[in-house]
Amino acid sequence: MQYELNDQQRQVRELIRRVARERVAPRAAAIDAAAEYPQDMFDLLRELGLFTLPFPAEYGGSGSMLSACVAVEELCRVCYNTAYLLVVQWTPFGAILAGGSEGQKQRYLPGLADGSLRAAISTTEAQSGSDVAGILTRAVASDGGYRLNGTKIWCTNAAVADIVLVAAKLGDGEGSAAVNLFIVERDTQGFEVGPPEDKMGARGVPSSPLFLDDVLVPEDGLLGGGFKVVMEAFNQSRPIIGARGVGLAQGAMDLAIDFIGERRAFGQTVSQFQGVRWMVADMAIQIEAARQLVYRAAAMVDAGVTGKALAGAAAMAKAHASDTAMRVAEDAVQLFGAAGISNDYPINRYFRDAKVLQIVEGTNQIQRNIIANDLLGRA
Ligand SMILES: Cc1cc2nc3c(=O)[nH]c(=O)nc-3n(C[C@H](O)[C@H](O)[C@H](O)COP(=O)(O)OP(=O)(O)OC[C@H]3O[C@@H](n4cnc5c(N)ncnc54)[C@H](O)[C@@H]3O)c2cc1C
Repeated sequence: MQYELNDQQRQVRELIRRVARERVAPRAAAIDAAAEYPQDMFDLLRELGLFTLPFPAEYGGSGSMLSACVAVEELCRVCYNTAYLLVVQWTPFGAILAGGSEGQKQRYLPGLADGSLRAAISTTEAQSGSDVAGILTRAVASDGGYRLNGTKIWCTNAAVADIVLVAAKLGDGEGSAAVNLFIVERDTQGFEVGPPEDKMGARGVPSSPLFLDDVLVPEDGLLGGGFKVVMEAFNQSRPIIGARGVGLAQGAMDLAIDFIGERRAFGQTVSQFQGVRWMVADMAIQIEAARQLVYRAAAMVDAGVTGKALAGAAAMAKAHASDTAMRVAEDAVQLFGAAGISNDYPINRYFRDAKVLQIVEGTNQIQRNIIANDLLGRA
């Protein structure tokens, strides 16, 4: 498997790197401080045609998950929240692409690809996050469709989404086999999006509870493939979550290098101390290792690898890249000294956002379960 970028991927990297530096970086601190949805950044990504990047050419994409990872990496290097705008659109897009009927694809995918529609995906409930099979939301066949009842939490993008893919158990089924995704359109009667969570990190893209009170989803609002589609959508999007970790870590290291090159102590710049130099070398080692794992998982997606064969590699990429983001961000804060704690400097934002990455899209313990199951069989 080849993880080197091809010419097209290098062009994507150069374009996004320039846009990130010139147009995204100057907005990053304000987005975090205000905790407001960055509509201007959404418009920018839309203008650049980036929402479609990993998807097939028929939706205007490059059909390359590796290109998508490179784009996310470059954006996350300067602004976690702007990178999140892409990722939060891609998981529901991927789920509809994988499990949708021709009608569902035609109805939603062109709009999600060009950014005229926004989406979210909701599995998590108060009593069950990691354990998706423990959800209580129910869908019962009725009135030529399905009636959904339940309460969700932590649904990112719901506040602005035109459609939400809601996980619910069908009929009186139990366990993961009963879990299905239903496409709920925003203005459906009985569907309500609650006030956003007040978050430590990922503050620019709101996460909200959902209330479903006898919400009628038409028959063609049920996504095919059941729980497998949910899991496969997460497997496929994990390299992108890993790319966020790589970009975040790279951005934190960039800032640390700039800072210690200027800051002086004991008559020399901090970058001259041997212990500090080794910390930076360790950052670079971890970032490059994480990048290679992410590119490998993305290349596997691009080569059509799915299911069990992809799950372990995607889990390694997500876990290692997000653990790297956390470690590097923590060390970068340390190298800033007291300035690392001050809100006058950007580095504590990287630290707060990194923590989110270890928890979302399957916690890193769950990623290790996936890897261990692959190696040892299920416990
Ligand atoms: C910023 C943010 C955005 C989010 N966006 C979305 C979204 O858009 N849609 C959505 O559906 N959800 C979303 N979530 C929810 C997220 O997916 C869950 O928080 C995550 O899956 C963990 O679930 P939990 O919080 O209920 O923790 P729990 O599942 O209760 O886990 C608690 C702890 O126990 C550990 N644990 C649980 N089970 C095991 C196990 N089998 N082995 C070892 N350790 C275990 C976990 O790793 C964790 O450390 C978001 C969360 C955050 C923070």
